[in-house]
Amino acid sequence: MRYGILAEAFEKLEKTASYLEKNLVIVELLKRTPSEEMERVVLLLLGRPWPAYVSKETGVGMQQLKKAVAKASGYSSSEVDKLMRETGDLGEVVRQLMAKKRQATLFAEELTVERVFDKVKQLPEITGEGSVDRKIDLISELLTSARPVEAKFVVRTVLGDLRIGVAEGRLRDAIAKALNLDPEKVEHAYMLTTDYSVVAKAAAEGGEKGLKRLGVSVGHPVNPMLAQRAEDVDEILERMNGKAAFEIKLDGIRIQVHKDGDLIQLFTRRMEDYSSMFPDLTPPLKKSLKPRRAIVDGELVAIDKRTGKPMPFQEVLKRRRKYEIKEASEQIPVEIQLFDVLLADKRTMIDEPYIKRRAMLEKIVAGAEGKVGVVEQRVLSKKDEVQKFLNSAVKIGHEGLLAKDLNSSYRAGKREFVWLKLKPAMEALDLVVVGALYGRGRRAGYYGSYILGALDEDTGRFKTVTKCGSGYTDEDLETLTKLFKEIQVKKPHPDVDIDIECDVYFDPNAVFEVVYEEIQESPELKHTSTFGLRFPRFVKLRPDKGPTDVTTVQEIRELFELQEKRKSKTRT
Ligand code: AMP
Repeated sequence: MRYGILAEAFEKLEKTASYLEKNLVIVELLKRTPSEEMERVVLLLLGRPWPAYVSKETGVGMQQLKKAVAKASGYSSSEVDKLMRETGDLGEVVRQLMAKKRQATLFAEELTVERVFDKVKQLPEITGEGSVDRKIDLISELLTSARPVEAKFVVRTVLGDLRIGVAEGRLRDAIAKALNLDPEKVEHAYMLTTDYSVVAKAAAEGGEKGLKRLGVSVGHPVNPMLAQRAEDVDEILERMNGKAAFEIKLDGIRIQVHKDGDLIQLFTRRMEDYSSMFPDLTPPLKKSLKPRRAIVDGELVAIDKRTGKPMPFQEVLKRRRKYEIKEASEQIPVEIQLFDVLLADKRTMIDEPYIKRRAMLEKIVAGAEGKVGVVEQRVLSKKDEVQKFLNSAVKIGHEGLLAKDLNSSYRAGKREFVWLKLKPAMEALDLVVVGALYGRGRRAGYYGSYILGALDEDTGRFKTVTKCGSGYTDEDLETLTKLFKEIQVKKPHPDVDIDIECDVYFDPNAVFEVVYEEIQESPELKHTSTFGLRFPRFVKLRPDKGPTDVTTVQEIRELFELQEKRKSKTRT
């Protein structure tokens, strides 16, 4: 296939910002692409000859590329620099220079997609002595046989900056449309392979059947299954037919481990390759995963060297800076706790129910000096047992529990109600209502959120803590609006410190009970108490309480400190 076809499509894509038009261009391009070229075309369309999860770069910098442009076009470096200053885009520079070049019409050979793809892909492999010159030669050879518009996109591809505004997400619909397939099926194939070039090729070759044949494979990260949030234990038991598996929810980094003989690869939730960042995990993983080939899913947690206890998530992230890997792996050792298996030797596990996957996981993981383990789990059906397990997990310093539907398959890339997060509800607060904002949409005509405050013991003043806009039933919205309309005033009461502009204010009398997930210090919205609540939810009106009975700012500070201690609290 001529590279010119691709370059012309790129040119059109660059010129239009319209989603629909862009899609049309991609659909047309894919329709013209023979199946054997499909992988290359899709990858080049996304800007690199590698799928996104491969952490490779061409390694060619602007200066080298400028030299290649000068060499291919026959213009001097200073002319390249001058045009570069004018346009700010080396792609545009090379287009103009190649167009001016006298022998521009004499092509030694037609530039093909295959040639551009292969040559760009070779670039990182050129290393050692003289590699800079060899890279320049390779690129200038490509440019010499390119038409001006082709040269523009070759240069941008080498730079890793295609600027045509095509993100991966767009390809689902374009592939489906071009090949007459159900977009959902295209997406599902992508969730398993994380690579639209593989998906497009399979679809072009075998249609829907081709997509179905695509499965998980070692070396290709699978989009991880995600969890929904549950309100409480009742909701979980109801959604999961009275019984579920409950696992400890660890606070670390989600890691998918791929084992292929001696090769261990680690992928993050966003399918980035983290293998080189945790070299200390490779030997224990090799040792403890029994199958030759396997894909397992788990959470990486950091261990405090002094105490041997798990550290908060931020500590794990500190190891991300590559230059300190060696020191970090000594200072902050990590371990991985596994909770799922997607492939074990030849057996694909993703379509098996949870309970079978768990059994397989336990079978294939052998302990490796405590560096690799299987997450603690209990199958429970009684509310008080779940609550006990939750309490004990939180006491040890974990975030909460994850409830998993015993019959659910591994739903790659999906956030559904078959995995449910259960976090401990924080102690409820009683707060005084000091203002409100009108609701919008479905809540038009009602107050949609209320501003709530705590009592500052030292000054006797009321200070705001949260803007609470959820937890209300339709009936609550109606009765509360009716009630508060009667007592609304135009200005805040003199005893209230409030920096938030409200639609109406109230004298500090009525009290709400609210729950929340976390207390925040210096939240986004400026609260005069200096604290804020994450995910506040209205529970009920407390007519039995008055403004002097409400939670104090000092108590909130204590709760905050307790919460922080609990967060960093570790296994004892
Ligand atoms: P969240 O990030 O709050 O949506 O919670 C989901 C995340 O919890 C997953 O992506 C994992 O990184 C993490 N996690 C911790 N323990 C488990 C577990 N036992 N099962 C699944 N995910 C877990």
